[in-house]
Amino acid sequence: MKSYDVIIIGSGPGGYVCAIRCAQLGMKTALIEKYATLGGTCLNVGCIPSKALLDSTEHFHQALHTFKEHGIDLKSAPTANLAQMIKRKAEVVDQTVKGIDFLMKKNKIEVFHGTGSFINANTVEITADGGSKESVEGKNIVIATGSKPASLPFISIDKKRIITSTQALELKEIPQHLIVIGGGVIGLELGSVYGRLGSKVSVVEYMDAIIPTMDRTLGKELQRSLKKNGIEFYLSHKVKEVSTKGKTVTVKADNSKGEERILEGDYVLVSVGRRPYTDGLALENAGVKTDEKGRVSTNEHLQTNIPHIYAIGDVIAGAMLAHKAEEEGVLVAEWMAGQKPHINYLLIPGVVYTWPEVASVGYTEEQLKEKGTIYKVGSFPFKASGRARASMDTEGLIKVLADKETDEILGVHMIGPRCADMIAEAVVAMEFRASAEDIGRISHAHPTFTESFKEAALDATAKRPIHI
Ligand code: FAD
Ligand code: NAD
Repeated sequence: MKSYDVIIIGSGPGGYVCAIRCAQLGMKTALIEKYATLGGTCLNVGCIPSKALLDSTEHFHQALHTFKEHGIDLKSAPTANLAQMIKRKAEVVDQTVKGIDFLMKKNKIEVFHGTGSFINANTVEITADGGSKESVEGKNIVIATGSKPASLPFISIDKKRIITSTQALELKEIPQHLIVIGGGVIGLELGSVYGRLGSKVSVVEYMDAIIPTMDRTLGKELQRSLKKNGIEFYLSHKVKEVSTKGKTVTVKADNSKGEERILEGDYVLVSVGRRPYTDGLALENAGVKTDEKGRVSTNEHLQTNIPHIYAIGDVIAGAMLAHKAEEEGVLVAEWMAGQKPHINYLLIPGVVYTWPEVASVGYTEEQLKEKGTIYKVGSFPFKASGRARASMDTEGLIKVLADKETDEILGVHMIGPRCADMIAEAVVAMEFRASAEDIGRISHAHPTFTESFKEAALDATAKRPIHI
């Protein structure tokens, strides 16, 4: 039986990054992946393909709605070629997953394709697609098996009309009416994709706000903006029935007063969250425990109850984000190598890649209120930014929350152009425990969107923004 210092099960951003860091630290490393391609949800059916379609459809949206004003006249109205968009997306995915193959070879990581399941706490059996079996032994084992779409007990996902994000990334036609159940990240990103292509999109959300776990200002602004683009919202609606008849799907939901709303469309996207994926792992053979939500339980070093078995990424508690999984992969590798790594979970940024983009780090205003923290708020609207006017991206704002007494930045919440990239400055600032005044005194290139962060910080520190 082949034997390794570490065996990693699952090749998503958690698993493959962990494998690279283990190899860098001199460990003999094996990576097991059940699918034919490496990269997990993120590269194959998540982050990368969704961003490819978001970019393509945003270009189309701009061609339809802003080219004329920019002085670009098209001879005829642009039309969307969904098949080409999906083909380009597939090429982007293909190149990206091949990049992971290259990285595995470069770092001399042995890759096994097949489903990994525990025989005991040190042995994993790998069952290949054809049924052949092989066992490998590890001093340490990392569970990085990720997550799968969750559903509601009364919904049966037929993958044709009632779909999850995986099918929504490769539809053969533009829906006439896409009903989205769940106004979270997936629902709004993929709802935007098809809304821009001309689908009628209706979002049914159980809570009284979209992206309800982010600072409430962001959800309000985003809803206003997406509404302008034709997306309809049914908030505080509890879905109770989903059915199909031929090409028609029917969704029944009750609002907070108990009144029934019936929506009819041709596709339903179920985006009500994701569940940890441990199917087929036979955790019981290793004695590894899970919590009440089916997540693998870990301590602060990401060790399970069996100390040489670790777990990272979507399969454990915390935000289901690729960069969180990556940080955890690095942490586990460095901990196994005897180092003292640390993750500041408060400063893992969250981003929604709609347009305007939404990005957030640190505490929300709601959390500060709940904690009883005395705080100051500063904000700056993009409509006051010269750069934003130049690019016709004047929607949205940046909000800075700072400690009332010390001026330390406690949270930054943005909605607007390129916020996905701009949030990095806020993360750096907060990692170094900057005050709002620090940001207000740092030179920001003009004209850039980043000046709006400086202005919001100036507003937070002493109500002295320059441009409003
Ligand atoms: P995964 O990426 O899920 O990888 C787990 C891997 O383990 C899979 O390849 C699976 O096949 C394999 N596996 C499972 N069981 C076994 C087994 N028994 N044996 C062998 N292999 C096994 N996050 C962001 O940060 N930014 C985004 O923009 C973003 N966009 C997203 C868009 C969509 C549509 C979706 C669905 C998700 C998105 N996410 C995004 C979330 C992100 O994809 C996940 O947080 C991330 O992939 C989690 O990484 P992971 O390594 O924990 O697991
Ligand atoms: P989510 O948790 O972001 O949103 C789910 C939404 O569904 C919530 O607003 C919730 O209130 C709502 N909901 C739950 N039950 C409902 C019901 N019965 N009826 C109506 N609404 C209901 O989950 P998601 O959008 O499915 O995404 C799953 C995970 O993938 C998220 O944790 C997210 O972090 C990750 N993801 C991240 C990105 C990104 O970083 N840009 C993109 C896509 C996915």
